[in-house]
Amino acid sequence: MGSGLVGACAPTETVDDIDLTALRAKYRQERDKRLRDGQAQYIVTEGDFAKYYESDPHMPVLPRDPVSADAEVVVLGGGFAGLIAGARLKQAGVEDVRIIELGGDFGGTWYWNRYPGIQCDNDALCYMPLLEEVNYIPSKRYADGAEIYEHSQRIGRHFGLYDGALFHTLIRALNWDEDIRRWRISTNRGDDIRARFVIMASGPFNRPKLPGIPGIERFKGHMFHTARWDYDYTGGDATGGLHKLADKKVAIIGTGATAIQAVPYLGKDAQHLTVFQRTPSIVDARNNRPTDYEWARTLKPGWQKERQHNFHDWAFELIPGLGQQDQVCDIWTEISRNLVAEVAAMPEAPSIEQLVAMREREDYKVMERRRRRIEDVVRDKAAAEALKPYYRYQCKRPCSNDDYLDTFNRPNVTLVDVSDSKGVEAITERGIVAGGREYEVDCIILASGFEISSDLNRRFGIDEIRGVDGVSLYDHWAEGYRTLHGMSTTGFPNQFFTGFIQGGVGGNTTLMLQQQVEHIAYIIGEAVKRGATRVETSQQGQEGWVRTIRETSFDMTDSLRECTPGYQNNEGEEKVRSLLGDPFGPGFYVFDQLLADWRAKGDLDGLTLSN
Ligand code: NDP
Repeated sequence: MGSGLVGACAPTETVDDIDLTALRAKYRQERDKRLRDGQAQYIVTEGDFAKYYESDPHMPVLPRDPVSADAEVVVLGGGFAGLIAGARLKQAGVEDVRIIELGGDFGGTWYWNRYPGIQCDNDALCYMPLLEEVNYIPSKRYADGAEIYEHSQRIGRHFGLYDGALFHTLIRALNWDEDIRRWRISTNRGDDIRARFVIMASGPFNRPKLPGIPGIERFKGHMFHTARWDYDYTGGDATGGLHKLADKKVAIIGTGATAIQAVPYLGKDAQHLTVFQRTPSIVDARNNRPTDYEWARTLKPGWQKERQHNFHDWAFELIPGLGQQDQVCDIWTEISRNLVAEVAAMPEAPSIEQLVAMREREDYKVMERRRRRIEDVVRDKAAAEALKPYYRYQCKRPCSNDDYLDTFNRPNVTLVDVSDSKGVEAITERGIVAGGREYEVDCIILASGFEISSDLNRRFGIDEIRGVDGVSLYDHWAEGYRTLHGMSTTGFPNQFFTGFIQGGVGGNTTLMLQQQVEHIAYIIGEAVKRGATRVETSQQGQEGWVRTIRETSFDMTDSLRECTPGYQNNEGEEKVRSLLGDPFGPGFYVFDQLLADWRAKGDLDGLTLSN
């Protein structure tokens, strides 16, 4: 068996007695009742709310003098994308790499998020970057947040990325200065950094967002966002022991992947916990386990990329290659696993249309299995019913947790379903209003997520980004992305982008980021070698790629529109924008080959170099 950590990876037992027509109607009804004012319902963490983004409960922000310096490459963000970029640049021989990061250390989301119970929901062997390069094997299948944070520091040390890094530093503005052919970076610390090249690596979980609940500013108790957990108030740490909550009534707003992990700890330690739920998450069995180090010693060089590819195939492709083993074998790959077993039993290979229909049915079956599981765990029938998710599998981030559902069997825990009112109705000085009733609480914890797919200026959290002739990037992309390969855009020389923009989407984000930064490192390396000080995407290069995207893109609008609102579908706004950006239709592998061929040609087609 490929994973070594599991026994035979068999298809799961799902349920066959489902009424597809009735379920489809139910899904639609559950979506419709939650549709509301898109991203406008969320408060941006600025002005009076800036502390929910800018303050650091983990480490004191020490005073320092402003830095005035020239730098070859500045990477904006010290999370996974920034760390991999830094590593690849160093490997490509670019020595002068400076990472600027709001957190007090590397890690990005894993620096900030230290809430109780924090763990990665993905196979750590796939998810944690550069494991082979730094010679590290995670201690369990789903690693704790602390282990991932430490791993980020390990990467930083291994590749010398601490040199010149600026922590606790928030970028305020990025302006292209044609005279010096550099980006001028201004920060909240008064810095003036003049960067030859900049790489945008802020990641999707960069900026917390707050629910715009009327009266939120009036609450007189204690309130914080899960990404800035206040252990001074709760006591304990990420492993629990929140002893200071023993005499506190606590409310948590939100039931996404974060809340699923934190709620069991709050339920255990708070005098009373009220969970305000608008849309339930999928919560399956966790099946976490320690790594079998003996097996790990048998891994051959190149194993991580191979495993990441395997995960991408099983979690993301319409049908993974038949005969290939599912190495990860968890909830992410379950639908494919069952589908493959079905296909294998068919006398003839199915058509694409048949496959799509089979996958949809499998999706409904797997979701039904998960709904019925809730009835087995949660004793209160009304609570069990409210906890059932009615949407397709990938509409919300799938979760697994062994204690979440059982928490609702505790006498000190109350579930309040706020789906009919499209969210919590109001916050008062004393607590939360839902269903016309006021719940008095001492503390409100906002598990309300991040600016993941909202407008760029909200997501980046940078006041201005101006390229040639002072054109704002936010205006330049107001009607949609325009790029070459999703990584650069006309009018913004020497600036490179990572993430879901206009590339081939990978089911494994770490793998996708690696693909992007390797390509960016190549371009920067070539520019330096060729003595160029300016690399800009030509109009022709950009138009060509945008045409390719339009011609090859698959329309996700309908399937996303059917999802309950959330960051995956831009909160169900009329103009649906996917979390995945504007993807290259033929997918990750074709895109990977296309980039490799482009590099092999060596003419940097679509870019204009000058000095
Ligand atoms: P989410 O955006 O997933 O969840 C936000 C929650 O807040 C939702 O349940 C939302 O309801 C609710 N909410 C928002 N506004 C209101 C309101 N006015 N009234 C009531 N409820 C409201 O944020 P998370 O922090 O949970 O997760 C974000 C992402 O972070 C995950 O999806 C995942 O990608 C990542 N993550 C990853 C982990 C990992 O293991 N790798 C662990 C934790 C998080 P609704 O759904 O109805 O909008």
